[in-house]
Amino acid sequence: MNPDTDLKERRERLVQSLVSSGVLRDKRVIEAMLKVPREEFIPEILREQAYVDTPLHIGYGQTISAPHMVAIMCQELALKSGQKVLEIGTGSGYHAAVTAETISTAPNEIEVQVFSLEIIKELVSFAKNSLQRTGYRNLVKVIEADGSQGYIEEAPFDRIYATAASPRVPPPLINQLKPNGILIIPVGEVGFFQELLKVEKNSSWEITTTRLGGVAFVPMRGKHGFKS
Ligand code: SAH
Repeated sequence: MNPDTDLKERRERLVQSLVSSGVLRDKRVIEAMLKVPREEFIPEILREQAYVDTPLHIGYGQTISAPHMVAIMCQELALKSGQKVLEIGTGSGYHAAVTAETISTAPNEIEVQVFSLEIIKELVSFAKNSLQRTGYRNLVKVIEADGSQGYIEEAPFDRIYATAASPRVPPPLINQLKPNGILIIPVGEVGFFQELLKVEKNSSWEITTTRLGGVAFVPMRGKHGFKS
């Protein structure tokens, strides 16, 4: 069998199993996960494992999130067309591509909608290459920066999410969230239990925080992250 057909089938089976187990429910996220080729965002040697529902090493001590975690975060963000989104922790670029695919309005959308910050230079290049190869380069702008400080140049954002855990919710992220905005971030201790938090800002700028459950993410570095 053609290896790419085989991977496409595995992608469909994984999405189907996430739907059957009740994790994946949002039609647009389902369609996005059926479309974005995870195998293009991991080191060549791991290609065969692209559709195992687990994090995978992408080098520099970092990992690409497990597909179910990408699904949960995209759904909790209630992504809609036209939203401006900030991701902290580009890593492989896969999660950003799924986000961009979920919110893109037209097949040939050229406007940047997802701004993604990554602190490790080499991963910035790795992610940019993968996004270029898969056709998401125009929808995702990858920037080398300390995301714990947000991205004031493009703030405010409708949606913000972090794929690295921080000791507390970095205040700049709340400040850079629009009214009726949603921020999702894992908060807790390095190597210990972290909680995925959903922080919502209403139209009166009041903040509500909901706990979404226990998770395990790599640590966030930078000004409001963990000191290493
Ligand atoms: N969303 C990614 C997951 C990457 S893991 C994916 O789909 O592959 C988290 C990433 O956050 C790592 O690449 C790490 O280098 C990055 N990171 C950690 N602290 C950061 C910070 N302060 N600013 C930006 N990126 C950071």
